[in-house]
Amino acid sequence: MISVQDLTKRYDDTLAVDGISFEVQAGEVVGLLGPNGAGKTTALRILTGYLPPTSGTAHLAGYDIFEDSLEVRRRVGYLAETNPLYEDFSVLECLEIIARLRGLSPAQSRRRIQEVIGLCALPEVMGKDVTHLSKGYRQRLGLALAILHDPEILILDEPTSGLDPNQQREVRDLIQALKTRKTVLLSTHILSEAQVSCDRILIIHRGKIAASGTPQELQRLSAGPPQLSVQIRGPAQAILAGLNGVPGVTRVTLRGEDGGAPRFLLEAAPGADPREAVFNLAVQFRWTLLELKMETASLEEIFRQLTIEEGGAVGTSPSPGLRPPSPSRGEGWGEGVKGQ
Ligand code: ADP
Repeated sequence: MISVQDLTKRYDDTLAVDGISFEVQAGEVVGLLGPNGAGKTTALRILTGYLPPTSGTAHLAGYDIFEDSLEVRRRVGYLAETNPLYEDFSVLECLEIIARLRGLSPAQSRRRIQEVIGLCALPEVMGKDVTHLSKGYRQRLGLALAILHDPEILILDEPTSGLDPNQQREVRDLIQALKTRKTVLLSTHILSEAQVSCDRILIIHRGKIAASGTPQELQRLSAGPPQLSVQIRGPAQAILAGLNGVPGVTRVTLRGEDGGAPRFLLEAAPGADPREAVFNLAVQFRWTLLELKMETASLEEIFRQLTIEEGGAVGTSPSPGLRPPSPSRGEGWGEGVKGQ
């Protein structure tokens, strides 16, 4: 488990990480999602003992990252964003060097190397020099090195960055395969990656956690009343009047017609779910219900609202439902999303 309390990092006049607190439970995959410059790498480097914080504390597997830094390093596998590798050695040699540095016995080393080669699909390149590896294989080797000592916690900085879509999927599948046995904290600026890979997402912006939750919870946080998309085959005006009378429905808009069946957008009172009443209405008048769908804001929209440039073209502040969990959000929402 990872437990972070009020972690702050200031570089001269840049407040890179601004009092973040969160926990990652055993077996969870949690994503730090944020635009470039949000403070993700800084936070992960602090947690892995590569960088001291300005203030705050963190415990990994129950150990303090400073007081027990050696115990922490034993229990953590770290894939750095730049993934430094021994370029002049073969893949196998690289694994052997790290196994030795990690203090594995020759027998443990042989067993673990075989395991990670299988897990990370490296057999084809075992004899290849690292310098000749494709980006995808370099990332797989980086992951193999990070998990070689079988750590209980994995910290992965932009694990799919620079990979093509097939390679990205392979790395995501690998993370899912590891998830049953590990606690994983990863960083990404790619929303779809967080959505696919993570049980929980922490949206980080300007060093602060702007929102957190499961992908579904973040979607539900979206502002505005619940909306329903409805298509019914039948007399448009009669249907419009009927829908307007459904309890909980506050507004009905005719959106057009498709194949002789009008489409409507229904707005409902907060917390209301008029789907059953709409269904019953259609049954009562023998209208054919073709579609009845609750519309949810996409996570992309939520992320955009949280990280949008203040005074930008699309909006100037986050919707009320998207306020961060912390009581003091401080200044504006800063830079737009970059580097996607
Ligand atoms: P991310 O990983 O989300 O892209 P970083 O943690 O790399 O964000 O950077 C957060 C902020 O800290 C940025 O404004 C960046 O310019 C600044 N920063 C990062 N590393 C340093 C450093 N070594 N010295 C000064 N500023 C830094």
